[in-house]
Amino acid sequence: MTHDFTPWLAWLDEQHQQMLDGTLELAEINSGTLNHVGVNRVGEALARLCQPLGGEVEIIPVAPYQHLNSQGELDQFPLGDAVRIRKRPEAPLQVFLCGHMDTVFAVDHPFQQVRWLDEDTLNGPGVADLKGGLMVMINALMALERSPWADQIGWEILFNPDEEIGSPSSAALIADAAERVHLGMIYEPSFPDGNLAGERKGSGNFSVVVRGKAAHAGREHHLGRNAIRAMADFIAALDDLNGQREGVTINPGFIEGGGAVNIVPDLCISRFNIRLERVEDEAWCQQHLDRLLAEINDRDGISIELHGGFGRKPKKLSGANQKLFELARDCGAELGMSIAWLPTGGCCDGNNLAAAGIPNIDTLGVRGGKIHSADEYMFVSSLTERAKLSALILMKLATSTDRGWLGES
Ligand SMILES: [Zn+2]
Repeated sequence: MTHDFTPWLAWLDEQHQQMLDGTLELAEINSGTLNHVGVNRVGEALARLCQPLGGEVEIIPVAPYQHLNSQGELDQFPLGDAVRIRKRPEAPLQVFLCGHMDTVFAVDHPFQQVRWLDEDTLNGPGVADLKGGLMVMINALMALERSPWADQIGWEILFNPDEEIGSPSSAALIADAAERVHLGMIYEPSFPDGNLAGERKGSGNFSVVVRGKAAHAGREHHLGRNAIRAMADFIAALDDLNGQREGVTINPGFIEGGGAVNIVPDLCISRFNIRLERVEDEAWCQQHLDRLLAEINDRDGISIELHGGFGRKPKKLSGANQKLFELARDCGAELGMSIAWLPTGGCCDGNNLAAAGIPNIDTLGVRGGKIHSADEYMFVSSLTERAKLSALILMKLATSTDRGWLGES
């Protein structure tokens, strides 16, 4: 049986101004990840914007963010609350929809204003990543709710507060949702041409503290134990791992330590990122890290400590995930969009969901680019375009009785 979805897709055409107004409202609230007050304001605005959807709204506090400071101690920063909205948990198909509320632009960052670059291009903090996508998600669900097939789909929205720092505190909420749902729709921006991100690399962020012993560089140099030298050796050996295993890259990205040059430095901090393509690569990296740490720890008067870990597993496409992409491609074709999916080195909450075995598409948000910079932009016409894509995917899922493919590994 074929269904006519046009009335609900046409309804989305009428929502353009409302979606744009919502995007502007959300983008004008600073929600740098550590501005928990701003993130909570975004959460309140979203709860209000979602009211027409119905569903049970929960405000969920998350654990504070821990960050190693330049003294080698862990600082704690409060994060905004997550917002979860659930409707029809008894429906045959359960869909998880996720979008983050935070941005990379701190409250004191110069980039705070939205401005038009031309009549279709909006430049502003978080417009593409991913406040425009939040409006796309909400409106696609509204179209589904207005359609006669809504009863087939139960849904669960998660607005999380910490994606831009790797979702350390909301990861547990994503894993929890994965227990209940069949598939995921995440509203990161698509590529500027509308293509989607397919496979994604895994990623780990690490901090290292080396402690040595301070001494006067002139009178008692022999009593000192130089933390900078030990860190330099560690980083050199770490960087030498590059090229030793296919798909694994290591980027030492930050270093801080020492002070006056007449004192042997007793403290040095560094941070690095690892990207990998296969889950097995994690164990390989861990083995080498353990070996390098042991070598430094064996030195007289020197200690080294590692913090952090692999927060994002690589996203591989299961059979079910392939089928989900094919569905998106077919829906795109019906709407006159050509959609492909391409691998990327970047990570997002789609990695976490895939690691939990849930097929998902994680770039269903607006078309845009130059994210994480003051040149971030979105194509405003993509608000309705992408809301229609999501709505059509949802309505096709709702009207199809063949759901066996969702279990394909
Ligand atoms: Zn994002």
